Amino acid sequence: MRTLENVLDYDYEGLRRKLEREKLEPYRATQIFDWIYKKKVSSFSVMTNLSKKLREKLSQRLEVKFPVLVTTARSKDGTVKFLWKYDDGSTVESVLLRYSDRTSACISSQVGCALGCEFCATGKSGFARNLTSGEMLAQILGMEKTENERIGNVVFMGMGEPMLNYDEVMRAIHVIADSKALKISQRRISISTSGIVDGIKRLSNEPLDIILSISLHAPNDEKRSKIMPINQKYPLSMLLDAVREYQAIKNRRVTFEYILFDEFNDSMTDALELVELLKDIKCNVNLIAYNETGSKFKRTPADKASRFEEFLRSHGIEAVIRAEKGSDIDAACGQLRRRMP
Ligand code: SAH
Ligand code: SF4
Repeated sequence: MRTLENVLDYDYEGLRRKLEREKLEPYRATQIFDWIYKKKVSSFSVMTNLSKKLREKLSQRLEVKFPVLVTTARSKDGTVKFLWKYDDGSTVESVLLRYSDRTSACISSQVGCALGCEFCATGKSGFARNLTSGEMLAQILGMEKTENERIGNVVFMGMGEPMLNYDEVMRAIHVIADSKALKISQRRISISTSGIVDGIKRLSNEPLDIILSISLHAPNDEKRSKIMPINQKYPLSMLLDAVREYQAIKNRRVTFEYILFDEFNDSMTDALELVELLKDIKCNVNLIAYNETGSKFKRTPADKASRFEEFLRSHGIEAVIRAEKGSDIDAACGQLRRRMP
């Protein structure tokens, strides 16, 4: 049997063109999108405002492909972690995070990650393949369906490096933001990158207004290279130049993620170096409590983290300790997957 194409891999224009090529009433793309993204339907047979004949023809050519839900882990604080399995046996994780005013989805962009950051469970499990845009969108739809809840924010902070799967991530973002599809405003979509400079430069020239988040995690090259091998290819001077350029074009604040590792990057000297490093960049710094994954790194004690935060704030940097979510379910990405047989 030939495998059918996944409708989720098409953005709206792409689906129109596909229907046109197949001589299948291209204007029906609007209704198909409505069924999938608004009504969460995954079979053409129930799309009752399309003719029976059209539904049959669509089913012969396309399908709405969802991964299998292997397992979930539920935290006391409302966080839910999902492990999905695609047709080829690949597994990825997504996390649903509940805040008082919104529900956020953290999704994966690759199966594994090639960048091998020392502290990261995903990085330690190696790289298998890129996800398609449809495979990323299915994570969001799958979570909305399972939880019967609307997701208001999407962050590409799950497994993988989104900038190394650039085109598929961009297509996914277009569908997430499309008012005919998930209709999540661009300012509620974030990409997190370990610092792929070419990707940041490309993103600067996209007609998009999403949030760019940079995983910094160290205040100088020496320390950063020890924990993030990508820093050898794109050292801090290059990375921060690209961020400044991005900022000049977009005129938007960027976010820096900084995991606090005990006795590694959490001293007052580190804080001072960080202030110097970021002094001419309009930014928010998210200080993150490390989810210990069996690496040699340990979490910074809470009182020390507060002092680090205070130091940055007193030097004019908008720093916050990011509220911890799902610590009772190993919410750090890659952990649930590694526990499975
Ligand atoms: N590859 C991208 C996006 C995925 S990782 C990146 O590195 O930015 C998303 C965020 O989670 C990154 O800031 C990453 O450094 C952080 N992270 C990875 N493992 C973690 C852990 N065990 N505890 C806390 N944060 C972690
Ligand atoms: Fe990859 Fe990001 Fe993990 Fe580094 S932190 S290994 S870039 S997923």
